[in-house]
Amino acid sequence: MKHNISIKRVEKSKVEDLDFNNIPLGTTFTDHMFVCDYENGQWNNPRVEPLHLIPTHPAAMALHYGQAIFEGMKATVDSEGTPMLFRPKKNAKRLNLSADRMGMPNFPEELFVEGLKQLVAVEQPWIPPQEGSALYLRPFMYADEPFIGMRAATSFKFIIIASPSGPFFTKRIKLYAETKYIRAAEGGTGEAKAAGNYAAAIRPTELAKAKGYDQVLWLDAIEHKYIQEVGTMNIFFKIDGKFVTPKRDGSILDGITRMSVIDLLKHKGFEVIERPISINEIQEASKNGTLEEAFGTGTAVGIAYIQEIGFGVETIHVSDESPVGLDVNDTLNGIKTGKIEDTFNWMVKIEKELV
Ligand SMILES: *Cc1c(COP(=O)(O)O)cnc(C)c1O
Repeated sequence: MKHNISIKRVEKSKVEDLDFNNIPLGTTFTDHMFVCDYENGQWNNPRVEPLHLIPTHPAAMALHYGQAIFEGMKATVDSEGTPMLFRPKKNAKRLNLSADRMGMPNFPEELFVEGLKQLVAVEQPWIPPQEGSALYLRPFMYADEPFIGMRAATSFKFIIIASPSGPFFTKRIKLYAETKYIRAAEGGTGEAKAAGNYAAAIRPTELAKAKGYDQVLWLDAIEHKYIQEVGTMNIFFKIDGKFVTPKRDGSILDGITRMSVIDLLKHKGFEVIERPISINEIQEASKNGTLEEAFGTGTAVGIAYIQEIGFGVETIHVSDESPVGLDVNDTLNGIKTGKIEDTFNWMVKIEKELV
């Protein structure tokens, strides 16, 4: 099905004001946005239009009851300047899984991908060409119906905004294994990319930062023992030559970088096991010298190399180097910029006629 996406362009782009070698993180937005409105049981009027403020009724349900979900993905260019998306159908599917959990309408998956393509085509000059840089895309959906009372809303907005992002500084990070607060419990919303999950994580993250850590390492809700994930990243450990990563159990986010890294590691000849991993096992592996490296995986940062984990009064030393993590990061960036052959068929090119 082809959707009719209308396009209204700005008179003058702001892209000339952007210093591509010094992109401020998360505060620069492109000229346009993609918008679609849900009313009377259907999505209407998909459009690309100049980025603008949205009038919001003070009773808009998202503000009170938190029916709000989002996605995160990146557009890159190959050496010929052709813009590409990384596995966009996976994001379309995950958005609808989040929508299902939060009592929100599904967004048509083809329209999700077409909307992304059309927006990226219009914003092509904003895609930073350097390896490790990208145009970050933020699709999101929220309840904009003005209503006081607890029920599913009947009107929603789906929007995509775009923000150029430079290469991330590859500082080794320190995690704080959180034994008081939790992120997600079985039966909760942990597998949804729901705004409220992040609201609940902000305070514990600020406390961990005040102690000198970069991010929280979330443990399970019942025993505060089994490792879940980190901030907005999934986590991998290399122990005695093999990789382990927490098994999906409904409380961790099904990361698209996670699934891609599992494929890449296997392709590179490593064994990857998805299973419950206790913090004590990591502590033990660090002590007996079998913990070789660990890293977080997520769209925003790619691969984040882990130096150490604070656990109670102890510090679990992980490693000072992450050779496999670095190699996986290079491969991912190479595929995203067309320098490494995309044998997995992950990249979706944006057709010339859209640009
Ligand atoms: C988005 C996110 C991830 C990573 O998912 P990717 O698809 O790899 O970007 C991991 N954990 C949480 C909590 C997230 O929000």
